[in-house]
Amino acid sequence: MTDVCSTPDLLSLEDALSQIVDALPAYNQFEQLPLKQALNRITYGDISSTVNVPSFRNSSMDGYALSINSDVTESLNIAGTSWAGKPFTDHVPIGSCVRIFTGAYVPDDCDCVVRQENATRNNDTVKLNKPPQLYDNVRDIGDDSKKHELVLSSNTLISAANIGLLASCGIADVAVYKRLNVGFFSTGDELVSIGSSLELGQIFDSNRYTLAAMIEQTGATPIDMGVILDDPQAVETALLSASEQCDVIITSGGVSVGEADYITDVLSKIGTVNLWKIAIKPGKPLVFGFINGSAFFGLPGNPVSVMVTYQQIVRPILEKMMGAGTDSKRLLLQAKTTDTLYKQPGRKEFQRGFVENINGQLVVSSTGGQGSHMLRSMAEANCFIVLEQETGNINKGQLVTIQLLGTNI
Ligand code: AMP
Ligand code: MG
Repeated sequence: MTDVCSTPDLLSLEDALSQIVDALPAYNQFEQLPLKQALNRITYGDISSTVNVPSFRNSSMDGYALSINSDVTESLNIAGTSWAGKPFTDHVPIGSCVRIFTGAYVPDDCDCVVRQENATRNNDTVKLNKPPQLYDNVRDIGDDSKKHELVLSSNTLISAANIGLLASCGIADVAVYKRLNVGFFSTGDELVSIGSSLELGQIFDSNRYTLAAMIEQTGATPIDMGVILDDPQAVETALLSASEQCDVIITSGGVSVGEADYITDVLSKIGTVNLWKIAIKPGKPLVFGFINGSAFFGLPGNPVSVMVTYQQIVRPILEKMMGAGTDSKRLLLQAKTTDTLYKQPGRKEFQRGFVENINGQLVVSSTGGQGSHMLRSMAEANCFIVLEQETGNINKGQLVTIQLLGTNI
């Protein structure tokens, strides 16, 4: 039996994504930021080191620096001390050594460092317990990064390690893509904002909160534009005003074919519109278009559908607009399912699961009720179980594809 909601005019997720990417104008806005503020931003242009790292030969151990040509069977005189930040720059004759600490300058006359555990100190002399090798414990100039060498290429997501790397290269400011301003609305006469109480037939508006959080996690700037009632004039006014201040506008609800679903009609009046039925579950209907140059996504209303369509469609598009390279593609892993997973062929499904590593094997269990209104099973999940379009039921114990939630991988 195939999925009752699957009709021949369904568009695959991949086709929907590539059609959106083709329609998007290039977003080339960038800004120069102090390094500290660049975490999770995306580099605009290649970045090269301003210095050699390290810029001088230095020791990787506490010990004694000497020339390999010294007679290491004899006691060596200690000519002085090289501290980190206080280099010893005098001549070190053959047969002498320098007391040295980690990170300190290795004098030009020296070509190896004997770690202190391999030496016996006696006042101003030291005897080596074992002969050193050339360049032992010496970090060479530029062995991490060379001056003018590329250290981060354009379109790279800046991680904590990248921040450290750039700092080590002396880079104080970086050019990054600007954050997109993403405005979002909820639509529906039944919605009540939290803080008020519910009358019969009303529900709390949760989509605005999940959207705000997801937009923030994507590294864009969320702009909460409130709730719009199911009234075409209100929808038109709200969308037009959002298009003046937002690069991207997202709505939830009102995109099916019910009598109170005005999003598509209004969009075709004030902008350009594509209404797609996408072959995914949850989250079939999706509107994509433009209003006065702002990209528009009309997501379905059910809370889990909002999360799935955002994660699978909106997020990769926002990341691409903000300069992410191909590494923004989510990593897919394989895990063994502890449950039988029920599915009809016809749509790609994103079921909610919890994955753990049990004795070296990834094992995933369903987090329960899979209704598109059930935020509980979404909230308990740490991954999507991704079941391909034509797949049917999956037996307990089979390997399935999973996609981790809440990560940048
Ligand atoms: P719609 O697509 O407008 O027909 O909405 C589909 C379902 O999602 C209905 O049960 C709505 O009540 C629900 N829904 C729509 N918007 C929200 C929202 N902002 N928060 C929670 N549920 C919503
Ligand atoms: Mg509605």
